[in-house]
Amino acid sequence: MSVGIVGAGTMGAGIAQVALEAGDEVVLHDVDPGAMEAARERVRDGLGRSAARLDLDADTIDAWVDGRLERLRTAVTLDAVAAEAELIIEAAIEDLDLKRTIFRALDAAAGPDVVLATNTSALSVAAIAAATSRPERVLGLHFFNPVPRMPLVEVVTTSATSPTAASRAEARMAAWGRTTVRCADTPGFIVNRVNRPFTIEALRALEREQASPEAIDAAVREAGFPMGPFELMDLVGLDVNLAAAHGVWAGLGRPEALRPSPVHEALVAAGRLGRKTGQGFYAYVDGRREPGPSAGDPGPVVARILAGIEREADAMVEAGLATAADVDLALRLGAGHPLGPFERRAREHVQGDR
Ligand code: NAD
Repeated sequence: MSVGIVGAGTMGAGIAQVALEAGDEVVLHDVDPGAMEAARERVRDGLGRSAARLDLDADTIDAWVDGRLERLRTAVTLDAVAAEAELIIEAAIEDLDLKRTIFRALDAAAGPDVVLATNTSALSVAAIAAATSRPERVLGLHFFNPVPRMPLVEVVTTSATSPTAASRAEARMAAWGRTTVRCADTPGFIVNRVNRPFTIEALRALEREQASPEAIDAAVREAGFPMGPFELMDLVGLDVNLAAAHGVWAGLGRPEALRPSPVHEALVAAGRLGRKTGQGFYAYVDGRREPGPSAGDPGPVVARILAGIEREADAMVEAGLATAADVDLALRLGAGHPLGPFERRAREHVQGDR
């Protein structure tokens, strides 16, 4: 199987690595030749780390890595990608006009059966598909960062996507050891929408000055989440999280419950973007978090987060945008939740009946 990847940044390199690990051929294209070289190095390192976990001796590790890296080729033109690949995944920058231009060119150059996928986080897959003459063979394959360690892929189908194209893409993802969930082409897909209350409700609690970020994060971790909302935003970048918050909020018609937080806006405006700037909700010195006060009572913040997540999960399932089982799976694998919202509710009912 030969897979084309357009865009050799963080996501493109990660996707290339998992395809190569599964034994597929990869043709990688980027407008920036330096990005393609950097991606090759990143893929080599990533393959080395995977090989190290395979319990092989040193010579065999090198052979395993080289054998896979041999199947990675770079292409200077989109036509060269289209000429060889059976599935093409676009992971260029998040810009609708740019993605439409790429899809138009791929559509013109690729054989009629080739499935074209986009890794967009927030753009409309239908708007990208409309640039092609094959919207039935266009879909979203939304990977999570870092790709080699995050097994979830949201398979985003538009009203035009054919069941055959979706199942072909899913079969490929399964061959790469990925777990897929199906989702309609809707703002935030599953994870970035249903998990919005995780940070929004924590910010509301902070705004009401109920408690410090330390106290809120501790309460959330206590409830079984791997990370609190403020440490998560500091890690991801407050700007990145705010852009996602705005995208989903605007896409859903500006519901009050998901309105982005003024505190969050103010921190971003002040350039406090999290770990990468040394200041976010916490302060960092040499990459290490400075201890802060665990002040105040976080109050019902965990209950509010869980209720908000349930509300969004119910809305998605009731609108037929995803199944309850896929929402649960997506929140566990894509956001690290100990239980999906429907599983949690079912468990609470059982406990309530006892
Ligand atoms: P990135 O900036 O690391 O990489 C983007 C690459 O695209 C760059 O190497 C750039 O040179 C290249 N590029 C720009 N214009 C191009 C063109 N016309 N043709 C080919 N290549 C071009 O970005 P990223 O973080 O890898 O994100 C890529 C896509 O994946 C975006 O749509 C993003 O929204 C989405 N995404 C990102 C994440 C994440 O956490 N980083 C997660 C899921 C989805």
